[in-house]
Amino acid sequence: MKSAFEAAQQYFDEAATVMDLSHSMRDLLVTPEREIKVQVPIKRDNGEIATFIGYRMQHNSARGPMKGGLRYHHEVNADEVLALASLMTWKTAVVDIPYGGAKGGISVNTKDLSLDELERLTRRFVDEIHDLFGPDKDIPAPDMGTNAQTMAWIMNQYEKFHGFAPACVTGKPVELYGAEGREEATGRGVGTLTLALLRKFGRSIESSTVAIQGFGNVGTFTASYLHKAGGKVVAISDVSGGVLNRAGIDIQAALDWVTEKKSLANFPGGDRITNEELLTLDVDVLIPAALGNVLTEDNAKDVRAKYIVEAANGPTTPEADTIFRQREISVLPDILANAGGVTVSYFEWVQNQQYFRWDLSRVREELERTMTRSFDKVWSIANEKKVPLRTAAYLLGIGRVSRATVLGGI
Ligand code: NAD
Repeated sequence: MKSAFEAAQQYFDEAATVMDLSHSMRDLLVTPEREIKVQVPIKRDNGEIATFIGYRMQHNSARGPMKGGLRYHHEVNADEVLALASLMTWKTAVVDIPYGGAKGGISVNTKDLSLDELERLTRRFVDEIHDLFGPDKDIPAPDMGTNAQTMAWIMNQYEKFHGFAPACVTGKPVELYGAEGREEATGRGVGTLTLALLRKFGRSIESSTVAIQGFGNVGTFTASYLHKAGGKVVAISDVSGGVLNRAGIDIQAALDWVTEKKSLANFPGGDRITNEELLTLDVDVLIPAALGNVLTEDNAKDVRAKYIVEAANGPTTPEADTIFRQREISVLPDILANAGGVTVSYFEWVQNQQYFRWDLSRVREELERTMTRSFDKVWSIANEKKVPLRTAAYLLGIGRVSRATVLGGI
């Protein structure tokens, strides 16, 4: 299997060839502006010292300050963070918010650390990199393994060096300069675009069945949105495995179960299935909303969904993507499908900069407008150039970044 960066590079190259991008511009756009790798030592609760490695990859700032999540996961490595940083550059351009792309992470298993240790880890990471990020440079946000509390610690530690600056990070708690609607934003955006995609194919959500892998932040809000819109969510899963109910899963019951038990294991609302079985179920819409690289050349030929909506980052390998194209399965790519989160992060940053708060209905309206406008643009490029939706999204994103680069100069 290709590395995460090689996969991102392949999608970039394909679009760059279609748009006849010069080699010098390709070189400039694939080369990250800055790669940061730092030692993050902390004192454990038992007094011992533990040393971790932290990354911040700043890929491109041609269109504005760089933006991207911070991931705490034991598999975090430089290659993956760099790939995700480049996806952020194209994603912010596809939805036309005035940002570049970055991503960060610490290679750590969060389950091994206490809350106090996680706080010390986060503050120490900020100590190492506080001069390299900030409201007008690079703005982190939550990703896997981090949450609103982590962002509150980042803001507090950053402000010890630089003074009051809530816009230095997004995804903060609503009580501490966070935005209403940020938590639901990615799932809401995925839901909005699933409906838009079905409409383009003359289908309705009411007559569609849906399977969702991952029942965390993105998976739960996506499931609730589609369920409320009249869709039949027949399968859901998390790291403990999946549940199938052909009559439709009671999403509220599943949410209540997970809130109480922290896992879908033993949820009585359907038959147990594996995560692998979920991906090849006979459903209309498949939504991977957990990990990367879950749709591969090994299982792509067995996928029976007609539409795949990439809520996770990088769930489809390039080999699987080729098989889906041959089989005429429509894939709504990650850089468009899951851009709702970064879009509402942008709204949070705008509110912080203006010391002004929007209410939830305004956030939702602006999110829907941004996502729908971006989807329509990608759809029309795909039809005009006769390319898949993924290539169309890259054409739009790369086109905007390269124009900004030419206009601004180097
Ligand atoms: P999360 O940690 O809240 O949830 C992840 C879910 O995936 C959990 O239900 C977990 O049990 C499940 N999972 C973990 N390992 C699994 C495995 N091996 N098989 C099946 N399920 C597994 O994370 P999230 O914020 O919901 O993010 C999910 C994906 O969406 C990630 O790829 C992330 O990069 C992407 N994403 C998230 C946001 C956001 O705003 N949260 C925005 C854009 C993209």
